[in-house]
Amino acid sequence: MNYPTLLSPFVLAGQRIRNRVIMGSMHTGLEDRARDYPALAEYFATRARGGVGLIVTGGIAPNRAGWIKPFAGKLAANREVARHRLVTEAVRAEGAGICMQILHAGRYGYHPLIVSASSARAPINKFRPRELSTAGIEAQIGDFVRCAELARDARYDGVEIMGSEGYFINQFLAPRTNLRRDNWGGGIENRARLALEIVRRTRAAVGPDFILIFRLSGLDLVEHGESFADVEWMLSALRTAGASLINTGIGWHESRVPTIAGMVPRAAFAFVTGRMRRVSPLPLVVTNRINDPTLAEQLLRDGVADFVSMARPLLADPEWVNKAAAARADEINTCIACNQACLDKVFRNRPASCLVNPRAARETELILSRATKPKRIAIVGAGPAGLACAVAGAERGHRVTLFEREAEVGGQFRYAREIPGKEEFSETLRYFRVRLERLGVQVLLGTEVSAASLVAQGYDEIVAATGVRARMPAIEGIEHPCVISYPDLLSGRRQAGERVAIIGAGGIGFDVATYLTCQRYADRTVAVSEFQREWGIDSTLAVAGGLLAVQVPVSKRKVWLLQRKAGKPGASLGVTTGWIHRRALQQRGVVMRGGVDYQRIDGAGLQLRTAQGIESLAVDSVIICAGQESETRLQTDLKAAAIPVGVIGGALLATEVDAERAIREGTELAARL
Ligand code: NAP
Ligand code: SF4
Repeated sequence: MNYPTLLSPFVLAGQRIRNRVIMGSMHTGLEDRARDYPALAEYFATRARGGVGLIVTGGIAPNRAGWIKPFAGKLAANREVARHRLVTEAVRAEGAGICMQILHAGRYGYHPLIVSASSARAPINKFRPRELSTAGIEAQIGDFVRCAELARDARYDGVEIMGSEGYFINQFLAPRTNLRRDNWGGGIENRARLALEIVRRTRAAVGPDFILIFRLSGLDLVEHGESFADVEWMLSALRTAGASLINTGIGWHESRVPTIAGMVPRAAFAFVTGRMRRVSPLPLVVTNRINDPTLAEQLLRDGVADFVSMARPLLADPEWVNKAAAARADEINTCIACNQACLDKVFRNRPASCLVNPRAARETELILSRATKPKRIAIVGAGPAGLACAVAGAERGHRVTLFEREAEVGGQFRYAREIPGKEEFSETLRYFRVRLERLGVQVLLGTEVSAASLVAQGYDEIVAATGVRARMPAIEGIEHPCVISYPDLLSGRRQAGERVAIIGAGGIGFDVATYLTCQRYADRTVAVSEFQREWGIDSTLAVAGGLLAVQVPVSKRKVWLLQRKAGKPGASLGVTTGWIHRRALQQRGVVMRGGVDYQRIDGAGLQLRTAQGIESLAVDSVIICAGQESETRLQTDLKAAAIPVGVIGGALLATEVDAERAIREGTELAARL
């Protein structure tokens, strides 16, 4: 049997869970409005069909004060139950369990009704919370209990009570935010009273056969957070109060430490759950940056936890469990932890999906039905757009030929995978390569195909996914030997010197600065300990909150990252990851400057004009990361011959092309062919 521990059943609150894979809570935007619940039901049913053991929904507020944003999903009245039944029935029909997460945002709610243990404002929120009175606290507890009862009425198998990530309950648990001097503040038995009363009264209300997961912060990663002794104390108190399972929370949203971004090594925080399990009387769930079945199996076998929770990996591939079970793990479409189409969208109030799987949370809208009349399709260009179109087209039953000029598939993705912290991008290329082979797509590498030859071969459909070429800006001296394009640098064709100027501070400029100053580690254990040193994480769990001074490895290279527009470089980076890239580079001494005008490149380096006047940067390499231009020759030739052509990805629009749009356009076109 493949992954015997991961795929073995477990009994929780008298209910059999078919394996140890939990789909962790993740907001998609479909939870907020009743009219989106049929789509939400299909989204979860797809994951249940894919073999997951237990699903935890996105956070649902127990009342309006607990909203994460105005009019967010809430379960507080009988009339709100019916929509949830659509979800529970759809999941049950596919053999998985489902728990609803009760999320009270406390001071993280982005609206004026917010409440908390004290009136201390969160550094990431402009709204100040109202400090609750004792009667107010009692009312909140009552709303949690009522919410759980309604969830039971909606036929959920249980609830997860969100007690971590710096939300409401965590705000009572941590001295950082609980400044109270009454029965609800002070020592751990007082700070924990809210959490324990919620669990105790909920258990009394829902009975013994309802799963009560408590998400407990194992490591707050903020100053004045909980001590690990607090965490240990909570584990036995939660058992007494009636919890069935403990999920591990890592870090608050306001923490200065990244916890799930791509540069966090896989399972970097599993040590926290492992320490909790030494004393826990309850089964435990390990979380954060676990996306691979071999690693998941290893963690369970090593006794780190009883369940593995994954949210984004199941957005990326709803069939993750079935593929692992069927010895097809090499076909898993691995989550690359980019956050670009999921969390970045949620934080911008837009519906979430997935960069590598644009059907995620759009299952009822983007449908890859079997083609009634299979066609012969030529796709030119095997970058993300062409690869996605080829795989989705072949899945529909079309006969696809994929032409690629280079000796390898991947397009711009080949450069991304070279960046320290973006190693996961090679998983996407592995996924596409394996799928192309299994689906019988004819892949012709090293083949530059012309419009005339495509026409001569009589394809039913032609798709131009010819991508982009790096823009070389018109700066005096651009031909100087010290000038290197980013494809030449990242493909290893050219090397940079010790003093480097980067022209262009978009996503690729930041990637190149990272490539030039950060290290990558082949061994996961080494990567985890270096990550802990760089971000100041106390791996001994001796310090309350878990923060130590950062120890950043010194970069020998001196790097300037430049842009013409005024303001701080990096403003266009992802909302959940941009701050990490900026901080990592700042810590290594990279100088980031906006408002520069490039004058000349010569043997002396790069001459700039700034608000202060003319300045010369004595650099030995100038790397050009000034965006891209579309490769349009093929589409132009085809159009001139009046041959219809579908154009996708960078070939369609080079401005702001990124892999998310490329893969989405490739998949959407394939759905229409
Ligand atoms: P980009 O984000 O558009 O940035 C291009 C940079 O070049 C800008 O800083 C721009 O700033 C500068 N530039 C443009 N024209 C120029 C010219 N003629 N002369 C000098 N400088 C010029 O493009 P990119 O960095 O190549 O990234 C391509 C796409 O991939 C983008 O959509 C990006 O979001 C995406 N991407 C995302 C990530 C990520 O981590 N999320 C990583 C890599 C790439 P000024 O005009 O102000 O000088
Ligand atoms: Fe993972 Fe990126 Fe997809 Fe989010 S968008 S689920 S981080 S691959």
